[in-house]
Amino acid sequence: MQKRAGYTFGNRKEGMNMILRGKNAVITGAGRGIGRATVECFARNGANVWACARKRDSAFEDDMRQLARKYSVSMWPVYFDVTEENQIKHAVQSIRRQKLNIDVLVNMAGIVEESTTFQMTSMDKMKHLFNTNFFAVTLLTQYISRLMVRQNSGSIVNIASIAGLDGEPAQYEYATSKAAVVGATKHLARELAPNHIRVNAVAPGIIETEMGEKIEDNLRERVLGKVIMGRMGKPSEVADVAAFLASDYASYMTGQIIRVDGGM
Ligand code: NDP
Repeated sequence: MQKRAGYTFGNRKEGMNMILRGKNAVITGAGRGIGRATVECFARNGANVWACARKRDSAFEDDMRQLARKYSVSMWPVYFDVTEENQIKHAVQSIRRQKLNIDVLVNMAGIVEESTTFQMTSMDKMKHLFNTNFFAVTLLTQYISRLMVRQNSGSIVNIASIAGLDGEPAQYEYATSKAAVVGATKHLARELAPNHIRVNAVAPGIIETEMGEKIEDNLRERVLGKVIMGRMGKPSEVADVAAFLASDYASYMTGQIIRVDGGM
């Protein structure tokens, strides 16, 4: 096996209920928000993680090193912009050189833009959103699923949004890009099932992250008004569901879109 820059510490403790023990996972958007929480949740559950961030950063590297030490797993930082096909290609090649199974892919990286009415939404804005939220997911999934098909196993977890299921006024481009992720999840579940690859999605409601904070006050208040639990979700509450879907506890689940929205 070729050595790769990364961090590994100690042996995992036996006897703990780690639902991803020994699995290797690729997670995008790993540096902050729900992605960062998902990396930690996966590590806590025994997974080794290719933690994918856009840019190399020493604070991120320190953070990953500490997670590796804390949970006795391996953390391999990988850097690429999800909208750059060449960068994706090189990143996947470097992952492939490690000659390890890729058990899980979590497509987390995503963006939202300032709200505007449908009539005022420019094509540029739509393309920008779709490039990150849908085409990047498609491309990375294509590259990783080729490897999963060869190993005849895998679990893919996409991060959609309730906006992609229900629609969201003044967020046409975001809602439709996430609806495309929902469609891709259902389609790929069918296409990849013969290769023993499960494909599911999590559809978060309104979550306490920079993205959640970015939503205009009136829109946030309106969405929160529909949440029967009466509060925003925590990144870790989305991460836990992603970990469950990635794990063998969800071995008979595919093509599912699981809402994590406090009841809406
Ligand atoms: P954040 O804005 O906190 O984090 C977004 C992450 O995506 C960052 O790590 C960011 O990296 C990464 N990213 C964005 N664009 C690129 C790119 N071109 N290349 C590489 N990485 C990129 O968002 P959240 O954690 O809140 O969101 C995570 C996912 O959850 C997204 O897909 C989002 O749509 C979805 N979601 C979030 C909700 C919420 O209320 N927060 C609700 C519903 C869905 P960098 O730090 O370099 O910018």
